[in-house]
Amino acid sequence: MPKPKIGFYWCASCGGCEEAIVDLAEDILGVLDALDIVFWPCAMDFKRSDVDAIPDGGIVATFLNGAIRTSEQEEMAHLLRRKSQYLIAYGSCAHTGGIPGLANQFSREEIMKWVFEDGPSNVNEAKVRPQTQWTENGCEVHLPELRHVVRSLDQVVPVDYYLPGCPPTPKLTKAAVGALLEGRLPAKGSVLAPDIALCDECPRKASKPVNTSFTEFKRPHQKILDPNLCFLAQGVVCMGPATRGGCEALCISGHMPCTGCFGGTSRVRDQGAKILSSLCANIAPKEEDEIDQVLAGIPDPVGTFYRYGLARSLLRRRVDLPAPAKE
Ligand code: SF4
Ligand code: SF4
Repeated sequence: MPKPKIGFYWCASCGGCEEAIVDLAEDILGVLDALDIVFWPCAMDFKRSDVDAIPDGGIVATFLNGAIRTSEQEEMAHLLRRKSQYLIAYGSCAHTGGIPGLANQFSREEIMKWVFEDGPSNVNEAKVRPQTQWTENGCEVHLPELRHVVRSLDQVVPVDYYLPGCPPTPKLTKAAVGALLEGRLPAKGSVLAPDIALCDECPRKASKPVNTSFTEFKRPHQKILDPNLCFLAQGVVCMGPATRGGCEALCISGHMPCTGCFGGTSRVRDQGAKILSSLCANIAPKEEDEIDQVLAGIPDPVGTFYRYGLARSLLRRRVDLPAPAKE
């Protein structure tokens, strides 16, 4: 009997999620015993034509990592959706837009101008920019188009399951593959990680303050930190209260605060807003200029509170409104 088919693909991604599959180490041999990998262009020489040749629904599950930024990524998302019984958003970028989603703070024109003209490492006096279509010696060349916004996978096609994390842990990946093989998958739309806040599984939770009163915020490199004390108790922003657990508190164990890569629990509508409201409600000073001084300790609020989730947040992107007409 033929083995069930499985695929892996990457879109706007750093490659870390592909590494996470390799991090299954010898367990990947078990996956290969049970499943037939029919598409994994990052690791093996697969072509789009290999996917085209598979009948619709012929792949049991595709794990797709990376956000959707280009026309090619959009096209591949639609193709793999059609070919797969289950489409799994693998990692923060596919789940919530991830780090690439931070680009939604800028317009496409600003990004192109910086990358190809103004960036300090550029030498491009002619201000040449990539073209999406070019003809040379009678041959037509096409490049994918950069879309105006970064989107999570489910903002482009329906997604069956989400594996959170930047990247997802080998333990969660193995559990998801096991659930798939044994037909133990939960309701469609589920996030395949515990629906608890990270603080609930944090080894420092006993020292988490009940009533915090922030007089300053420091970044981890600006202070000698107690390795056993809750980061919030030390005035360092930790996204744990607004973030889903299941990562085994790996960053905390490495003495770094949580940056929120698992997204919120099912009870959190907007992860950034959740932590923002909780921190701001506990700032000790009441005068505006003193509050500003405390907040100056968080120099990049969007990058801090929406590091992985801007694309799928309530804010989603910056919109430049036209200047009001002069009377
Ligand atoms: S989720 Fe993290 S590891 Fe995975 S592609 Fe995005 S940035 Fe890379
Ligand atoms: S805020 Fe951070 S350090 Fe404190 S208990 Fe929660 S996850 Fe742990």
